[in-house]
Amino acid sequence: MSASSPRQAVDAHREAAAEKPVRYIIQNLERAYGVPENKRASDPLDMLVSVILSQATSDVNSQRTFAALKRRFPTWDKALRARESTIAATIKSGGLAQQKAKVIKSLLRQIKAQHGTLDLSFLHEMTADEAIAYLSQFRGAGPKTIACTLLFACRKDVFPLDTHIFRVLRRVGLIPQKCSDARAHEIMNELVPPGKFYSFHVNLIRHGRKICRPREPLCTRCPIVEYCDYGQTQV
Ligand code: SF4
Repeated sequence: MSASSPRQAVDAHREAAAEKPVRYIIQNLERAYGVPENKRASDPLDMLVSVILSQATSDVNSQRTFAALKRRFPTWDKALRARESTIAATIKSGGLAQQKAKVIKSLLRQIKAQHGTLDLSFLHEMTADEAIAYLSQFRGAGPKTIACTLLFACRKDVFPLDTHIFRVLRRVGLIPQKCSDARAHEIMNELVPPGKFYSFHVNLIRHGRKICRPREPLCTRCPIVEYCDYGQTQV
């Protein structure tokens, strides 16, 4: 019998994971942490830039950096006309400034060339799949950046995974121990029920910070232990 390919292994895992009661996991997390409401609908281009700025830094720091960028360049056209080095100096406190400035400048240039205007509000009218395909063309916009932009700015059902979420989902068994970022996002986009993407995203982060910590997770106090592969070996 021939060995299955990595793709087949991931598909088999996805089938097994789909049988897990994702709805109950979401429900138990909502009982424990509340039902967060997605009030952050906003301009998609603002959100895309803000998510790029949030890479490899804290939330507080990235919010400060975004505010500084908007103060220095009240319109995206002004940022497009600025030198990359000026953008980098403005966002310096957020880290990786040169790299982020290059990405921001390049995406502004590309959007302007394609649409003649710096406006991504047409994403609101697209399906989630169309919007993902559109944003995938930009260098520096990986699966998490795209998902955050579409979930937070457009309230679309697209699931972003951060480091806490990856850890929890691997332990629970909803995503394989080894799979690419893109594949993990794809699996979760299929598994999460419509309308529950924001709640599940926010509560998994809360859960990862409070209970399912990187070291010594508190499995005996966990509201989803009965659905967790790792937890079942601990209690
Ligand atoms: S049972 Fe333990 S490992 Fe599983 S999700 Fe809960 S805290 Fe994390």
